[in-house]
Amino acid sequence: MNNIATNIAQIHNRIDKACQKVGRNPEDVKLIAVSKVKPAEQVEEAFHAGQNLFGESYVQEFRDKEPLVTAPVQWHFIGGLQSNKVKYLRGKVAMIHAVDRLSLAEEIDRQWGKIDGVAEILLQVNIGDEASKSGCAPEDLENLVRAVAQLPNLRIKGLMCLPPHSDDPEQVRPFFKQLHELFEHIDKLQLPGVNMDELSMGMSGDFEVAVEEGATMVRVGTAIFGARIKKV
Ligand SMILES: *Cc1c(COP(=O)(O)O)cnc(C)c1O
Repeated sequence: MNNIATNIAQIHNRIDKACQKVGRNPEDVKLIAVSKVKPAEQVEEAFHAGQNLFGESYVQEFRDKEPLVTAPVQWHFIGGLQSNKVKYLRGKVAMIHAVDRLSLAEEIDRQWGKIDGVAEILLQVNIGDEASKSGCAPEDLENLVRAVAQLPNLRIKGLMCLPPHSDDPEQVRPFFKQLHELFEHIDKLQLPGVNMDELSMGMSGDFEVAVEEGATMVRVGTAIFGARIKKV
């Protein structure tokens, strides 16, 4: 599991197969290489293997690593985020995946307003209704979308979830389905400032099932960079 280029090629193959199975175009699925806990050199190595989207989960680690990566990569922030740390991401990340409350969206709006920018965000839904997980409750999503959509310096681009873990991806499939249904529901509302373009779901253990259920972004760490020994 230490040849990053080979791993990336294999993941693309598996994404292609999953797309074939359900008649989707593989170009509609973006691979986000989750580089948390991994050094800048491995990000560069993946970039040279053709990977340009990278996901990070910890603000401090991102602040340390980002200046060390000289390749023109695109960063996505995929982890839980405290409002007081949003300023460190301002202008540096192309998308924030785990926005689950209005107060956080307001701070993103405020920070991106300072640079006259527009932040692209995804709303995180707590699809398994797990007490331990963040994310907005499915029944509160529509209200959150309507409130966040009022903010001028951000754009809602879709939904994201981190469903209950299972070693059997088939156990996770219903949660992916449910997020896709919510996505369709919000899309139908045709709200100004809201584009349901991206469905961010699926990780190393279950990305093929996520693709079968409509994911447009899969977030894959371990299957590219190997196991993480530090934090999870
Ligand atoms: C770590 C992480 C991933 C990647 O997990 P792997 O199982 O290593 O692929 C995906 N999404 C989020 C939000 C993560 O924190």
